[in-house]
Amino acid sequence: MTDPTDDAPTGTAGTPDGGGLRLVDVQAAVAAELDRIAPVIDELGERFAAAGHELHLVGGPVRDAMLGRRAGDLDFTTSARPEVTERILRAWGDAWWDMGRDFGTIGARRGDWMVEVTTYRSESYDPDSRKPEVEYGDSLVGDLGRRDFTVNAMAVKVPGRELEDPFGGVVDLATGVLRTPGRPEDSFSDDPLRMMRAARFAAQLGFTPEPEVVAAMTSMADRIEIISAERVRDELVKLICAPQPRRGLELLVETGLAMRVLPELPALKLERDEHHRHKDVYEHTLTVLEQSIDLESRLSEGGGPDFVSRFAALMHDVGKPKTRRFLDDGTVTFHHHDVVGAKLTRKRMRALRFSNEVTDAVCSLVELHLRFHGYGTGEWTDSAVRRYVRDAGDQLDRLHVLTRADCTTRNKRKAQRLARTYDDLEARIERLTEAEELASIRPDLDGNQIMETLGIGPGREVGEAYRHLLELRLDHGPMDAEAARAALMEWWRERTAND
Ligand code: ATP
Ligand code: MG
Repeated sequence: MTDPTDDAPTGTAGTPDGGGLRLVDVQAAVAAELDRIAPVIDELGERFAAAGHELHLVGGPVRDAMLGRRAGDLDFTTSARPEVTERILRAWGDAWWDMGRDFGTIGARRGDWMVEVTTYRSESYDPDSRKPEVEYGDSLVGDLGRRDFTVNAMAVKVPGRELEDPFGGVVDLATGVLRTPGRPEDSFSDDPLRMMRAARFAAQLGFTPEPEVVAAMTSMADRIEIISAERVRDELVKLICAPQPRRGLELLVETGLAMRVLPELPALKLERDEHHRHKDVYEHTLTVLEQSIDLESRLSEGGGPDFVSRFAALMHDVGKPKTRRFLDDGTVTFHHHDVVGAKLTRKRMRALRFSNEVTDAVCSLVELHLRFHGYGTGEWTDSAVRRYVRDAGDQLDRLHVLTRADCTTRNKRKAQRLARTYDDLEARIERLTEAEELASIRPDLDGNQIMETLGIGPGREVGEAYRHLLELRLDHGPMDAEAARAALMEWWRERTAND
């Protein structure tokens, strides 16, 4: 087995013979994980039992334990009503919070442990409303039957640790299948977000939704439109940050969900060129995403998922459909698809309610993804290198990743040549940075020095002079104060002569 804490997708939980997951392995994996979280589950279980209530570890943590993965937050379900849960968690935790009383969920933290306890429910959605209407239920099985997939509809009783699996989740987990406890149409009609969760689990766990689930996703895709942008966004982020986003994205595109939540992606597919005058932009995009994932170790220690970098890879060519032109000589161009792509990306990210910070980062990467190619074969001026660094700002490392990933040619020599040229650029940036502290490029004189040199007070001219010196600084590198003053005086003479 591979490292059990690894996030690697394991359709059959990583058994070496590929013959599915063996019961003894599952039992051992679950026992190990339950031992690890024993300090929480044992004590909470006792406290709920003492109050006369049932408590079950449920959903994600049970599923992950079986897959030999560590659970993050611990989700529980209970027969206790929220008031009772609140009283117990208050006494147990360092902090507690109401996740929305209407949902019947109370959260709490003790040390590094985070728990969420939800009252048994039998909820149903009003198809026209964005909010679930919750009705509390009285039975564990009723609660589990309302969950999204059978692999998420298993529970472990605490205390006692008996597994409850009324819908055959263990079997589905062993075969890597996503199945709804009831009819998928009913389930998705209760909460259309579950269709996106199917794609997310395909990407995260490497599971395959059963054909009935795919069929329901396809026929009900438009129902996703009643779901709030925030919920859709959160699932999309989890999907994209999963080990195998391609599987999830392809599922979104195949079922028509992508057309509703990220139409720019299927639009790339429509651009397939029958005459093969250019490569398939959709396939190219998914490959760039995968290649950028392979380069993530450059971005952070350990190389964990980096949403900004991944989403920029996914969106980098979305300007192509709008900018494609076929020329008479049989060639094709996509002029300004970088700028157009950045605009479309911003619009999409606004609609999905991404923060300004994340949106700005992704859009500047999309806008800059071609810049490197304008630099030709490595004969760039220092000035061009400085501008590259300045324009990338704090996205420079990600721009390196995106630009390198954006090479999907099958021609090995061409790929190697591009990679070497980029190595060269990075080496030059490093040398220049060392010599000039590129990250904080400022003109050689500040505002006060400019006013002093020109003998003028604050005003429009100071700003103009500042920008002129900044341009000089970018073109020629640093100057000493004397040379800067001379250059400033020359500019000033010319300017006043022209007036
Ligand atoms: P993660 O915590 O990694 O997002 P998870 O499976 O734990 O994955 P949560 O959103 O934490 O997902 O939800 C906890 C459990 O609640 C799930 O395992 C599932 O049983 C149930 N659940 C969550 N969202 C839904 C939903 N939209 N419809 C039905 N059941 C859901
Ligand atoms: Mg969870």
